[in-house]
Amino acid sequence: MKILVINSGSSSIKYKVFDMPKEALVSKGVIEHIGEKGSAVSDHYSGLKIILEKIDGVGAVGHRVVHGAEKFKKPVLIDQAVIRKIRQCSAIAPLHNPANLAGVLACKKLLSGVKQVAVFDTAFHQSIPEHAYTYGLPYECYKKYGIRKYGFHGTSHEFVAKEAARILKKEFSKVKIITCHLGNGCSIAAVDRGKSIDTTMGFTPLEGLVMGTRCGDIDPALVTYIMQKKRMNPAEMDNFLNKASGLKGVSGISNDMRILEKKAKEGNRRAGLAVDIFVYRIRKYIGAYIAIMNGCDALVFTAGIGENQAGVREEITKNLFSCLKNAPKVLVVPTNEELMIARQTYQLVRGE
Ligand code: ADP
Repeated sequence: MKILVINSGSSSIKYKVFDMPKEALVSKGVIEHIGEKGSAVSDHYSGLKIILEKIDGVGAVGHRVVHGAEKFKKPVLIDQAVIRKIRQCSAIAPLHNPANLAGVLACKKLLSGVKQVAVFDTAFHQSIPEHAYTYGLPYECYKKYGIRKYGFHGTSHEFVAKEAARILKKEFSKVKIITCHLGNGCSIAAVDRGKSIDTTMGFTPLEGLVMGTRCGDIDPALVTYIMQKKRMNPAEMDNFLNKASGLKGVSGISNDMRILEKKAKEGNRRAGLAVDIFVYRIRKYIGAYIAIMNGCDALVFTAGIGENQAGVREEITKNLFSCLKNAPKVLVVPTNEELMIARQTYQLVRGE
């Protein structure tokens, strides 16, 4: 069966087609600049039409959906009720869910009768216990506004954790794994015997590690302090923390870790500092996750930095486990979120 995997963003649609259950990649591509000034592609419907002209015999579609809040704990077949709920989640993911839904609605029109599945970035982390997902805020923030840790990159963490268990030749439900997804966005998950029990990203992807352009954990009092100092409104502050901070903000050079590693080696102090704080924050969380799982069988690196930058991996793991009786195996596992979505879509449409 041919499964079309769609990752629909605000101005782009990325797709891959897999032949399942062989898991063979049949084709892939991207349509960009959707809805932008001067673009020939005015909306997601037109973008998807172009994609479908190149593909025939689609048996089912799997959609990446960023936010499922507490409404979705696993992938689901899409119907009107699911569409309504994804729309409700847009309140806490205004940049992502509407764009994901645009892809779903375009598919519904163009591939009527073909089953569609939604796979959520947040779903794998729905097993995180209450004491780990609740913030130290008045409880009504959770009850009234759904404010809690949700976590993201769930499809990637699940995929590489399962791969790691396979490499270790152990059952997924019996191993303790720490997965480090280090790309432009970065997050770590503690996967305890098959379940995510904590992750570094939070209510939004801003929490946790220092990332390409995101600050990660900071003193929350800084938000209002900086807004006053720089006379910024909430939207400007949001942009400051998400787009102007992290590796880019500290180094003043780039958000690209390849460039920073090179500049740091050449003696650029701020590039060196950016790499150091990136590494330090990761080491700190790995230590914390070993503590909450009471051990760890494997530490997994994935995504752009995790897969390709051996120097950064070395800095992170240097003497990291010297105080442990049993050091975890360190693995590099290339992530493949689209294949994970194809697998889950195939399983659901076959009623497994
Ligand atoms: P995204 O979160 O945008 O998917 P990636 O997983 O592509 O990001 O990771 C981007 C980061 O990985 C950048 O900091 C980049 O410098 C770093 N990187 C290192 N080697 C590579 C590579 N071969 N290809 C892509 N990114 C790489």
